[in-house]
Amino acid sequence: MNTPADHPSSSSSTPLTELLKAQIRATGPLTVPEFMTLALQHPEHGYYRRQEAVGAAGDFVTAPEISQVFGELIGLWLVQRWIDLGQPSRFLLVELGPGKGTLMADALRAASALPGFLPAMDLVLVETNQTLRKAQAEQLSAYAPRWLESLGELEPTAPLLVIGNEFIDVLPAAQFAVAKGAWFERLVSTTEAGGLGFVLGQPKTPVLPLLPEPKDGQFFEVMPSLPSFFKDLSALFTAHAGSALFIDYAHENRGSAWSLQAVRQHEKVDPLDAIGDADLTTLVDFEAATTFAREAGMTVPPSVTQRDFLLVLGAWQRFEMLAESAPDDAPALLQSLQRLVGKDKMGHRFKAWTCHYPPTLPAPAGFPSPESEQQ
Ligand code: SAH
Repeated sequence: MNTPADHPSSSSSTPLTELLKAQIRATGPLTVPEFMTLALQHPEHGYYRRQEAVGAAGDFVTAPEISQVFGELIGLWLVQRWIDLGQPSRFLLVELGPGKGTLMADALRAASALPGFLPAMDLVLVETNQTLRKAQAEQLSAYAPRWLESLGELEPTAPLLVIGNEFIDVLPAAQFAVAKGAWFERLVSTTEAGGLGFVLGQPKTPVLPLLPEPKDGQFFEVMPSLPSFFKDLSALFTAHAGSALFIDYAHENRGSAWSLQAVRQHEKVDPLDAIGDADLTTLVDFEAATTFAREAGMTVPPSVTQRDFLLVLGAWQRFEMLAESAPDDAPALLQSLQRLVGKDKMGHRFKAWTCHYPPTLPAPAGFPSPESEQQ
């Protein structure tokens, strides 16, 4: 873990700051996706390559770390989806960015209630962080998982179930703004004072066809890797069948603001400070995800809030059971449930989003049925 003492000036210069400056001096300003990729995935200094990010001792806390109910309900969701798929005797269960392995451990404990599910499962964890891989191995060794660096490495040997909590938000996003009737891209450049700063420049990330007609005052964020991510997922699903569930902090009003943010030790920090020591994320544009997933041939039921998703799956009933068996813990349990489903907490800001193939699969548990689908 990093402590402020690692960098006595507390912010400014990390090894990555110097590396970025040298690169900018050599080849010009960096796009935000280039900046995010270096800050998060640089083989030696990248944030997701070297430290334990998640949990009370890390830089931020995620839903599975708040309450076991989160992972348990996803476990029931997975069991239902396996039944929807016809209870295949072999299937791949893939988690993208499993963090400390808590979600999957809670999910599989709940899923073990249905005979047949665990023996049919081949567990695959997609993770770039070695420290987190160790934590996942400790939590999940009983299920004999295997690890991949990316989804692209997976062989579609069986039907697939894919989950990712707070995974899409780490994919790099390009940022744009309209000035004088045209789109400009937000870039990271060196400043006269010798530091790093954001500037607007000619668009470099090749995503102009994905931007709307420019209107003054408009901002936009696009994850350039999202179309190919959904193409890869679709290719895996079409080989047999498949269904995915993603939960993430979502854009409420895309087109209105940029959302790149940096978090270090539970505090928001300037994205250009503590580069490599702070997590970088953007809000997820699930509307764009829907467009790209449909273009790739998948079916996308309407998304729902985390609140509705968890309550429909039985979060309240599960809480009551836990509170009954441990009455002393009831206040703390209630508080964690409220953090997950509260309208002013994660309940409304986070969305659950799903896609599947073939289209004949029913909409999954927790999502509106096909009759209310747009498409
Ligand atoms: N799902 C976990 C962790 C979310 S944090 C939870 O809910 O607690 C994001 C996770 O994605 C971390 O495990 C991180 O190491 C991993 N990650 C980040 N970039 C990744 C990439 N490009 N490929 C695979 N995993 C990645």
